[in-house]
Amino acid sequence: MSVPAAFDYHRANTVDEAIALLKEYGDEAKVLAGGHSLIPAMKLRLSQPGHLIDIGRIAGLSYIREENGVIAIGALTNYTVLERSDLLKRYFPLIPEGTALIGDQQVRNRGTIGGSLAHSDPASDMPGIILALKGELVTQGPNGKRTIKADDFFIGTFTTALEPEEILTEIRLAIPAAHTGSAYEKLANKASHYAIAGCAAVITRGDDGTCSAASLAITGAAMQTTRASATEAALVGKKLDEAAVTEAASHAAEGLEIVSDIHGSKEYRAQMCAVVAKRAILRALERA
Ligand SMILES: Cc1cc2nc3c(=O)[nH]c(=O)nc-3n(C[C@H](O)[C@H](O)[C@H](O)COP(=O)(O)OP(=O)(O)OC[C@H]3O[C@@H](n4cnc5c(N)ncnc54)[C@H](O)[C@@H]3O)c2cc1C
Repeated sequence: MSVPAAFDYHRANTVDEAIALLKEYGDEAKVLAGGHSLIPAMKLRLSQPGHLIDIGRIAGLSYIREENGVIAIGALTNYTVLERSDLLKRYFPLIPEGTALIGDQQVRNRGTIGGSLAHSDPASDMPGIILALKGELVTQGPNGKRTIKADDFFIGTFTTALEPEEILTEIRLAIPAAHTGSAYEKLANKASHYAIAGCAAVITRGDDGTCSAASLAITGAAMQTTRASATEAALVGKKLDEAAVTEAASHAAEGLEIVSDIHGSKEYRAQMCAVVAKRAILRALERA
């Protein structure tokens, strides 16, 4: 089946209007941003909303700006804009490099950072990147605004802390401490470019040359985007030579619920987690 079930289309011109429409149509409604996850799911009839609320043309939700030590990104900012941003290249190079690896140019012109985070596909790249960066997600709903830490936002496969009548409006990232480097690596499915295993790494080098902070997230390999806690613990306080990084990266799949499918067995994916983690850590270190 390649045609979606019938639905009514509503275009919201403001966030308040979108929230009012979500309230009015309840379970029947779905928000549409770039449409590059929702429309394919509707075509396959995995999702059959009776009402589509298009937020894609709400003015003022696409931006990247610096505000008092924080980089704020509007939820409707598309991947191409992220990829070309000088601010992001300067502070968070893993975002432009990660977005450049997403799908193809058409997907990157339409897909939005907010859509990717709200969708919480475990094979998507943005959730892991924002988790490793310890981002905060700002939502708006009938009861006002909330700010949710990325660690509390991704709850499971296609499940987030967003309430049904809430819209994700902004992503906030603290400007990193001195001597912090970040990188994103993925082993991609050759057709879709979704991650079979990916790793976002953010590493801070202390004055004595040891690792003073490490934040890592694994995408693609598990049922949900997950922090690589065992690798983080193995890095902090260690001298950052290749042997220590290899040892720490070998724990990347530890504690994760690794998946097995036609693209890769559980064992293969677990091994690939270690490979992408090592590459991401070493490149993050070069930038630290
Ligand atoms: C061929 C192809 C290849 C792809 N390859 C990759 C890849 O390599 N890596 C990757 O990460 N992704 C990939 N994607 C997915 C793509 O990144 C999607 O664009 C993205 O996952 C969703 O963003 P969107 O703006 O298109 O959201 P939509 O499809 O419009 O929405 C997705 C979901 O999020 C909800 N939503 C959207 N925005 C908001 C918001 N602001 N607040 C609350 N809820 C919201 C919607 O209701 C829906 O449930 C690919 C897609 C295609 C079609």
